Amino acid sequence: MHQMTLAEIARGLADKKFSSEELTKVLLARISQLDPQLNSFISLTEELALEQAKAADARRANGESGALLGAPIAHKDLFCTQGIRTSCGSKMLDNFKAPYDATVVSKLAAAGTVTLGKTNMDEFAMGSANESSWYGAVKNPWNLEHVPGGSSGGSAAAVAARLLPAATATDTGGSIRQPAAFTNLTGLKPTYGRVSRWGMIAYASSLDQGGPLARTAEDCAILLQGMAGFDPNDSTSIDEPVPDYAAGLNGSLQGLRIGVPKEYFGAGLDPRIADLIQNSIKELQKLGAVIKEISLPNMQHAIPAYYVIAPAEASSNLSRFDGVRFGHRCEDPKNLEDLYKRSRGEGFGAEVQRRIMVGAYALSAGYYDAYYLKAQKIRRLVKNDFMAAFNEVDIILGPTTPNPAWKLGAKNSDPVAAYLEDVYTITANLAGLPGLSMPAGFVDGLPVGVQLLAPYFQEGRLLNVAHQYQLNTDWHTRTPTGF
Ligand code: GLN
Repeated sequence: MHQMTLAEIARGLADKKFSSEELTKVLLARISQLDPQLNSFISLTEELALEQAKAADARRANGESGALLGAPIAHKDLFCTQGIRTSCGSKMLDNFKAPYDATVVSKLAAAGTVTLGKTNMDEFAMGSANESSWYGAVKNPWNLEHVPGGSSGGSAAAVAARLLPAATATDTGGSIRQPAAFTNLTGLKPTYGRVSRWGMIAYASSLDQGGPLARTAEDCAILLQGMAGFDPNDSTSIDEPVPDYAAGLNGSLQGLRIGVPKEYFGAGLDPRIADLIQNSIKELQKLGAVIKEISLPNMQHAIPAYYVIAPAEASSNLSRFDGVRFGHRCEDPKNLEDLYKRSRGEGFGAEVQRRIMVGAYALSAGYYDAYYLKAQKIRRLVKNDFMAAFNEVDIILGPTTPNPAWKLGAKNSDPVAAYLEDVYTITANLAGLPGLSMPAGFVDGLPVGVQLLAPYFQEGRLLNVAHQYQLNTDWHTRTPTGF
């Protein structure tokens, strides 16, 4: 039962092969049996899950239908869930029960999803390895000595290990696509503004975007359908109609123009990954796609720009965690300054503190022009590169990451080494574009992802290409041993 995709679950529920309650019990048992090896959950919500499953079964018995009605999922622990701990992977929020549901959570609940729990993540979504979580590192089910990627590592590990079919995640600089690549999943970061950020604890507000992590493009289409749409509570939400993503999966790829940036195949890329990307290009050519070499000349500046802008926004967003209104408060503060300093010093981990300091520095009066303003200018150049490329091609294809998942602890002493691994993903966030990662093969038994980028609001095109690719390849069907 646990092997089923969301699409298969929807069919099984519609055909009355099993109930949502039965499925939910199977998955909850599987989580309690296997998750101790992975640490992919911060909180389990068994009671809520069983309640929601029974309610979904009752709705089906009353003649309601829907692809998500009775579908078990989990939420990354930065989506606010009413009355349930929403920790953001931080000691700071270990005691925080959200007073309301994020829009994504309430939309999915209304569609009938069953919430099994809240998944582990890098602290405040800062990281690429899920090692900065206050709740401990998450293990990659493909090799328990390796990281699952981050910051949505808990969602990725849980879905890859077949603990559940799909989960929500967020992507500020790659945190949906990179863990998808590291765990053999399909993950989609939508266009900035496509999915509401209301109730999603902010890391870098101009870059953050929620999206689905699942095993197939078809399942990403199903989950995105439940997440996407205009939300008046989010001032950057965009009032664009949401297409029927599942209905768009079967378009032909005949004549599809795929751009492959020459900058993607530089020195930092593992040559074995480069070979797998070439194979996926050949596969898409067989389906009728036409390949064109393109150039994204400002890509080399993207990492430094991102690692100024994201910490700058984070330093501002995280100032609200002051030990006064909510979150961790130190014992016996001597005065207000002591309260702030010790509450924040005790509540935030090392990576979060590092970024707050970098961000505050970049925004300070004397350095604003030199760093923050410069980074914003680079951001525009990166966007312009994409706009020029999309005049010539329909999608852009390349590796999701330069290397496969590294060993736990391997990059802990060198944060910049980890930042460099984001080279292929962060440009989409800087430009606000949608991007998808899908399985493309293995290196040393570890999964490799291929990334597709599309123009604004062309999530449907990404899902269509990925679905056609998955009808003709079987990488995405591989299961990690032991799960
Ligand atoms: N690795 C990137 C960072 O640490 C991206 C994280 C994310 O997308 N949330 O900022």
